[in-house]
Amino acid sequence: MALYVQKYGGTSVGSVERIQQVADKVKSFRDQGHYIVVVVSAMSGETNRLIGMANEMQDKPSPREMDVLVSTGEQVTIALLCMALTARECPARSYTGGQVKIHTDSSHTKARIQNIDVDNMRNDLDKGRVVVVAGFQGVDDNGNITTLGRGGSDTTGVALAAALKADECQIYTDVDGVYTTDPRVVDNAQRLKEITFEEMLEMASLGSKVLQIRAVEFAGKYGVPLRVLHSFKEGPGTLITIESENTMEQPIISGIAFNRDEAKLTITGVPDVPGVASKILCPISDANVEVDMILQNVSAEGLTDFTFTVHRNDYGLALDTLKHVAVNLNATGAIGSDNIAKVSIVGVGMRSHAGVASRMFDSLAKENINIQMISTSEIKVSVVIDEKYLELAVRALHSTFEMDKPQTVEE
Ligand code: ASP
Ligand code: MG
Repeated sequence: MALYVQKYGGTSVGSVERIQQVADKVKSFRDQGHYIVVVVSAMSGETNRLIGMANEMQDKPSPREMDVLVSTGEQVTIALLCMALTARECPARSYTGGQVKIHTDSSHTKARIQNIDVDNMRNDLDKGRVVVVAGFQGVDDNGNITTLGRGGSDTTGVALAAALKADECQIYTDVDGVYTTDPRVVDNAQRLKEITFEEMLEMASLGSKVLQIRAVEFAGKYGVPLRVLHSFKEGPGTLITIESENTMEQPIISGIAFNRDEAKLTITGVPDVPGVASKILCPISDANVEVDMILQNVSAEGLTDFTFTVHRNDYGLALDTLKHVAVNLNATGAIGSDNIAKVSIVGVGMRSHAGVASRMFDSLAKENINIQMISTSEIKVSVVIDEKYLELAVRALHSTFEMDKPQTVEE
């Protein structure tokens, strides 16, 4: 007998039929004798629909009213799912975030969970009920409804699993696990049996969209075993867990992430004196533009080139800002490109294997792909390349690192 927290996302509860299918599935777990706490999202598209209506009422609706509004999406699904369960003779009880209580701070639309009362849920579980909790929402000290930020139901699931010391937090979604890379780019991308929290965090922040980043951070911090599974297909999914003690079993590279969301800017011929990096980047951050990768060249004759990347949406603003900086600093110019892509290899196995970066560069060189920027961390190497070579690069790396076959032993 295990205690599972199962989170079903928007597409999994996207219609009356789907909610009924979820009810069948939840009931079958309970019939096997497990304790089940279900967390649901709003029906797919519902949160966007609510936000759309809010924007028709007022230019910038107050965050407090936004939370009152968008939290209704999840309230609909908890009630419907409980009705479907009860109709199947599976006793169930719904809870809003405020009813649980999921205490948060008062930062409306991006609240953080502070603590969770488990007594109500435990009581119901002991009575043989399935507990169904609205994702994405909580309550602050003054009883105001709060929400946790888009995609926040993942975080609700993980937080409940941590608070209840669940055996596993299962995230049911429309993919059957985490893949070595995007199967739309590499045909024989493989589902991973396991991936570590750290790797998953890198993959998520580098563009893989399976899980909300905050949920992965939370799970890592509290050591909650997290599993990503398909809502309506059988299969073991992908387990996200702590690093295995036996590094021999670890593949060197677990995944290849990429994104087309960045743009690159260069300020050329800047006098190379102390303080120059901050003089370039402060105006950029003052313009509210976040910088990702940064590179400064060795100076020749006292002048240097300084390159960095930003989100593509901020490209125009960043370039205008940089042109001003160039004039102020007596630099020779400011140029940029938004036809770039970032490709990253991720793996904790890098820690115990030398030469991973050079294998990556060698593989790209063989395809005649020019590397424009490089950045590394202990478990990741990222390169910026011309966007038109992105798919070629991902395929080449996928085969160089022998990711075309299942990587860990089948459980
Ligand atoms: N319904 C919310 C959203 O669409 C929360 C979630 O689905 O996780 O962002
Ligand atoms: Mg979601």
